Amino acid sequence: MKIKQFHIKKNQMKSWTEIFKNPCPVTIETFVTGTVDINRRGTINTEHPDAGYIKDEILTVPIKNYVVHHNELGEFLLDAGLDKLYTDDPKGGINGDLADEFYQNRNDNIKFQLESRKIKPRAVYLSHLHPDHIAGIRELPKNIPYFVGKGELEQYQTEKEGDFLDGVETIYEIDFLELDEINPLGYCADLLGDGSLWAVSTPGHSMGHCSYLINGMDGSIFLTMDACFIMDNLRLKIAPSDYTWDVGMAQNSLDRILKFLEAFPEIKVICGHE
Ligand SMILES: [Zn+2]
Repeated sequence: MKIKQFHIKKNQMKSWTEIFKNPCPVTIETFVTGTVDINRRGTINTEHPDAGYIKDEILTVPIKNYVVHHNELGEFLLDAGLDKLYTDDPKGGINGDLADEFYQNRNDNIKFQLESRKIKPRAVYLSHLHPDHIAGIRELPKNIPYFVGKGELEQYQTEKEGDFLDGVETIYEIDFLELDEINPLGYCADLLGDGSLWAVSTPGHSMGHCSYLINGMDGSIFLTMDACFIMDNLRLKIAPSDYTWDVGMAQNSLDRILKFLEAFPEIKVICGHE
């Protein structure tokens, strides 16, 4: 696998107000490739001073990824979901006690769903490298470009997470620090060069975690990915703590998202696991 730096042209637009005045012919479609059981305590950081009492309760939540349909540029994947090895094995063929367990109905794997919809992604943008977001790569084409935030590859533990990147020809790292901040969100990358699809640096859940913003004609959509698991994170203004690399940074990223959503209440927000 070649690791390359993604050289992104800086967009001339310097504010979200300006960006939203220039919407693009782009829509998204959500795919669910399985479910995962998580505890509400951990979905909400119980150590946060405002957390109050959080019920000890198992939540079965969807494992989601998205297809971006761009009228002129084609189709792009945001995360890869799960491949079909999870239909019969909750660990998806990954050995060891540390492997995470996911559940999948037959034909919910990403390849089946993309093929039945005749979707051929031109590139895959990864929010981060946790297995529920990348296991599907095992059954996706390897000769299309893959993109990830800088910091993810150095944190990636194949013994726990499986070598889901095996065979990928080229992965591009996005170095957000090279780009401009568009506040209140901070560092953002104009992925397709026309202001239609943005990666937003939201570290904390993992080192190079990205959220995404789709600037479509029918209104903009903010995909938190795992910066925010469920709507309760937004309602309580408290970030998750489970599966989280740096809880303080995760809270900081959530605070920036909340500020953005307060400034632009018309934006639709979709959480990572709800
Ligand atoms: Zn994750």
